[in-house]
Amino acid sequence: MEANDLINLAYVVAATLFVFGIKMLGSADTARRGNLVSGLGMLLAVVVTLLADGLDYTWIIGGLIVGSAIGLVAARMVKMTAMPELVALFNGFGGLASLLVAWAEFEKIRGMGWAVYEMEMQSNAKFSGFVIYAAMLIGGVTFTGSLFAYGKLSGKLSGSAIVFGGQKALNILLLIAILAVGVVFTWSSDLELTYKLFLSGVGLALLFGIMGVMPIGGGDMPVVISLLNSLSGVAASAAGFVIYNNVLIVAGCLVGASGLILTVIMCKAMNRSLGNVLFSGFGAASGGGGDDDDREPKALSVEDAFYVLEAASSVVFIPGYGMAVAQAQHVVKELAELLEENGCEANFAIHPVAGRMPGHMNVLLAEADVEYEKLLEMDTVNPMMPTVDVAIVIGANDVVNPAAADDPQSPIYGMPIIEAHKAKTVFVLKRGQGKGFSGLVNKLFVMENTCMIYGDAKATISSLVNELKGS
Ligand code: NAP
Repeated sequence: MEANDLINLAYVVAATLFVFGIKMLGSADTARRGNLVSGLGMLLAVVVTLLADGLDYTWIIGGLIVGSAIGLVAARMVKMTAMPELVALFNGFGGLASLLVAWAEFEKIRGMGWAVYEMEMQSNAKFSGFVIYAAMLIGGVTFTGSLFAYGKLSGKLSGSAIVFGGQKALNILLLIAILAVGVVFTWSSDLELTYKLFLSGVGLALLFGIMGVMPIGGGDMPVVISLLNSLSGVAASAAGFVIYNNVLIVAGCLVGASGLILTVIMCKAMNRSLGNVLFSGFGAASGGGGDDDDREPKALSVEDAFYVLEAASSVVFIPGYGMAVAQAQHVVKELAELLEENGCEANFAIHPVAGRMPGHMNVLLAEADVEYEKLLEMDTVNPMMPTVDVAIVIGANDVVNPAAADDPQSPIYGMPIIEAHKAKTVFVLKRGQGKGFSGLVNKLFVMENTCMIYGDAKATISSLVNELKGS
């Protein structure tokens, strides 16, 4: 067996480990092992690639040190609530890496000419030109698109959708220019011309990333990030074709496919199409749904809330972004246990886009050791709601906004919600009159059966725990 066959065999093993690892991530019981299995696959792929001939280890070690240092700082400094921003940045760097791989390969071609390159790499110049342009283009769009998404999510840029007249036409023109440059780049073998076209392509791709994300509102950023994640995988796969690395092609495809599946799941969770998310300018204007409601929310004290809870026989906790901010998951678990000791049934209703990243609530509650069976999905919990004595909304807002179900004027009309308003009594725990991520008014807060318990969620729940312990 030749060295090349051995390398490819190791790549097949690595790819198999990726697939099994991803499959195991689908269940909470096997997720940790799945992560390890995929990591093992990546280690194998990296080691085998590094052992291949002709590598300059100085650059690899340099890159390893710089990359590890950035990773270490990021892991220590970034809070759980800022994870989506970090993911956006990582996607962006993945895209940049693909762009640079394509650029480096093109520089190689500039050094030796297309004909020699074709002979040396035993490749077709047209195919190489195509994959180089594709890796550069998708990588470039992913890079600036992700940086823009990072800016919006972190609050460094305005979260609202930026829309202006003629924007769609401009974007279509940009896209046509990108494709036209790509076609000439792929067909031409004139080195000077292809160099100019390549640089123009880089500029256009970077611009298109910004222009594409600009008209999308902050509330839709998770979907955008998931899509950019998918794109970073496609860019990596294209880079794999550029440098003839099979494992990079496979790994890129896996990232591309899983990112796309997650994107579709998130769109379904909001009852919107991907086209609507990308092109509707959702979030350009705030308001809508309930702005004209002049009823006042009713505030309730922790002591009074305790009496209601003591008599309740079923409670559903509905956590949202505020629970993550308050880091209230441990006290929430304690409260659920105390209620159960008191003969009450306590469950958790999980909305797929509650918080700021997919699975955000599951992660927090798993960290607090809440049993997985107690986490009920939207479709399971909604039919139960009318029989629930108390729904406790913990720092959730958009995902319990009834306007999504009954106000056709609302921008979030049609998005599935947890139907907290159907419970006999609703407690909403939040600090004040702050709006949710979408910036919309929530009429749940002024409904007859709703009481507001103002304050930081952790402080409020801790007080309820103390009341229950003292009773
Ligand atoms: P939300 O609509 O953003 O509302 C969070 C609420 O938490 C706010 O109204 C805020 O009100 C309250 N809050 C903040 N800090 C708090 C604290 N320390 N204690 C108590 N309350 C606190 O949250 P959501 O209902 O979870 O909805 C998620 C939204 O984010 C959706 O619009 C979704 O599309 C979007 N999104 C989702 C993801 C994802 O993948 N899950 C990612 C990005 C964006 P006060 O200021 O008055 O306290």
